[in-house]
Amino acid sequence: MINIYDLTQEQLVDLFKQWGEPSFRAKQLREWLYDKRVSSFDAMKNLPKELRARLETETTLGTLKLVTEQSSRDGTLKRLYKLPDGQLIESVMMPYEDDRRTACISTQAGCAMGCVFCATGQMGFSRHLTPTEIFEQAMRFAGELEAEGDRLSNVVLMGMGEPFHNYDASVSAIRRLMNDLGIGARHITVSTVGLVPQIRRFADEGLQVKLAISLHAATDAERGSLLPVNKRWPLEELIAACRDYIDKTGRRITFEWAAIQGENDTSEQAHALGKLLKGMLCHVNIIPLNPTGGYHHGPAAGERIDQFIDTLATYGVTATVRVRRGIDIDAGCGQLKASVISPNEIPEVPNA
Ligand code: SAH
Ligand code: SF4
Repeated sequence: MINIYDLTQEQLVDLFKQWGEPSFRAKQLREWLYDKRVSSFDAMKNLPKELRARLETETTLGTLKLVTEQSSRDGTLKRLYKLPDGQLIESVMMPYEDDRRTACISTQAGCAMGCVFCATGQMGFSRHLTPTEIFEQAMRFAGELEAEGDRLSNVVLMGMGEPFHNYDASVSAIRRLMNDLGIGARHITVSTVGLVPQIRRFADEGLQVKLAISLHAATDAERGSLLPVNKRWPLEELIAACRDYIDKTGRRITFEWAAIQGENDTSEQAHALGKLLKGMLCHVNIIPLNPTGGYHHGPAAGERIDQFIDTLATYGVTATVRVRRGIDIDAGCGQLKASVISPNEIPEVPNA
């Protein structure tokens, strides 16, 4: 079966040529898909009935099969999808009061990076997603929002997997989010655990996309105990790559910090971080640790986080705490994993 979402405009024209259809049909079909964002061939009213029937039998619109969906009382939606080979991935949509609608999408089934506090890391790596599989997660939310008269405004590549470990597919999906879905580069964020060669490559990509780096610790001893990748690319190399990225692109970097009680919420870490980032065009995003099955630590206390932020301020480094989303359905940062829950285990949570 041909997946229509896999085809570029040119490839669709070619397919239609083989089918004896004029090339303007390709343009019409793409308008239905990416501008009007319909989810069935049946809705494509200006395509001849016979063409729609042929599309229906010989092609598909995407490959993600919805397995379960959970909705949080804050409006966050979490989806579990099955891929054609049986792999499972999750994606999340977060509505905000200021009308932003942010999709958090996965780039791999599982993750090979093994960060100790991350549910995806705890499950290990299954496989890379294709550009279309990455793109389609956002496409699905975009289509559903469109049908409700709403619009997907932001996309973050912060779901399952390490985007820069699947670099080409992630960048290709980002380009499609921009070109096909019309999402502005500044409304797209890619987050990496710190793969130095890819950060350097990304600096040359010419994209205005936001870059986030999962830092979480400011000394090699501490970071190495949380993020195995730090042994391959220690802080000195990582920060050098970040500085070069900023020099080259003129863009600010966001550093993510999962605040863990008694681990990286100490005054020592705050001072080390202040020294590390002093003078850099950056911002620190603090995420109180979300619980995961395989890591038995708690989130840093609010007071600790306030002190941490105050310490950073003495170095001229700004930091804010990210509001946690979807806590009642484990849809927060680092909580995505591919577990099938039976529908009657899904809590009935009324939307606020
Ligand atoms: N692989 C990429 C993107 C996906 S993870 C990366 O690691 O950057 C998205 C963010 O959630 C990362 O900053 C990650 O470090 C963070 N995270 C992972 N587990 C977490 C947890 N239990 N609580 C809070 N944040 C977590
Ligand atoms: Fe992978 Fe990111 Fe989780 Fe680390 S935090 S295991 S890099 S998904």
